Amino acid sequence: MKMVSDEIAGAIGSSSWIRRMFEAGAELRKKIGAENVFDFSLGNPDLPPPPEAAKALHEIADTLSEPRSLGYPSNAGWMPFREALAEKLAAEQEVPDLAAKHVIVSCGAAGAITSFFRAVLNPGDEVIVPSPYFVEYGSYCGHFGGKLIAVPSHADTFEADITAIEAATSPRTRVIMFNSPNNPTGCVYSEATVNALAALVEKLNRGRERPVFLLSDEPYRFLTYGGARVAPVLSKSAFAVVLGSFSKSLSMAGERIGYLAINPAMPDADLFLGAVTLTTRTLGFVNAPIIGQKLAMKTIHCGVDLSIYEKRRELMLSVLDGAGLDYVRPGGAFYVFPKTPGGDDVAFVAHLMQHGVLAVPGSGFGRKGFMRLSYSVENNVIERSAGAFRRAVESFGA
Ligand code: PLP
Repeated sequence: MKMVSDEIAGAIGSSSWIRRMFEAGAELRKKIGAENVFDFSLGNPDLPPPPEAAKALHEIADTLSEPRSLGYPSNAGWMPFREALAEKLAAEQEVPDLAAKHVIVSCGAAGAITSFFRAVLNPGDEVIVPSPYFVEYGSYCGHFGGKLIAVPSHADTFEADITAIEAATSPRTRVIMFNSPNNPTGCVYSEATVNALAALVEKLNRGRERPVFLLSDEPYRFLTYGGARVAPVLSKSAFAVVLGSFSKSLSMAGERIGYLAINPAMPDADLFLGAVTLTTRTLGFVNAPIIGQKLAMKTIHCGVDLSIYEKRRELMLSVLDGAGLDYVRPGGAFYVFPKTPGGDDVAFVAHLMQHGVLAVPGSGFGRKGFMRLSYSVENNVIERSAGAFRRAVESFGA
């Protein structure tokens, strides 16, 4: 019997590589023992939230006797939190007149992207993204008839290839989106790249009735190494939309708190904001969790200890050096995207698994010949994996 739609049946059949590795990891742990499995396949932050979060939760608990303390907030978010977000984003995005009304609170960055696509896409519209890319983007736009067009980034830096992106545009282009610091490469796009993307959008929109949006997905904005700056986006185009979340910065991915913000100069800004507020409601998100909104507001200026990720990056890269694997040094996020020996990423990742190492093939991010390693794992796991990586590389194809 056909219990689910054809589309979703197909999507389950070709379930994401991350999900497959998750299941393979569980099997492997049973077979060889958890201590012999080195799992670099998940982007789920393992650090606890900052200590201020516990105090904040106690304070929130003390307010529960107030009427509707856990009731529905406005669909666009709890106003005090939107105000706090507006102040933070105005500085971060260099848009001084950004106000609370230009910010919508969402169920994570994922919820913000989905509400955005629902609000702006007509069936057949195209969404351009540099590859490799966060694989869920395809489903997020596909739900509303959008078509994801992946454009390979420069292989030596993983910066977006602006010439190739321009060549991929068409009258159906509705969104050009990017993610910096990037999952899966760790690339922090240069200011020049962001400027060029904004300039391209401005150029494309001259005389267009349905403009192209420049969408910046930035849940890893907080996590760069050596003080690298993540270029602001909103200040660069009236058609820019920025979204992010507290999933990684406060290690509260399960609490589902994110946001979307626009340049106040966007044409018909009120209509656009009203549309995203409506889709947030009608997609069934209704509003982001209220405890999470209050928690994120009270801890908005806190963060997890970045030096822990910095140390892990060094450990991970020295493991890759020891195994002779080739990579572009990540400037941010907690991912690295090395080349897989022999070019067949699926075969190499399967071979790595025989040595107890779990990675995700680059094919799962729209880029063959690479693999993603997430170093959001304890130092000792990274250190102990060195021998397994070395042996796997030495024995591959032997
Ligand atoms: N965008 C990127 C690039 C991600 O890596 C993730 C999660 O890993 C998301 C969006 C979704 O994050 P959130 O938990 O904020 O919905």
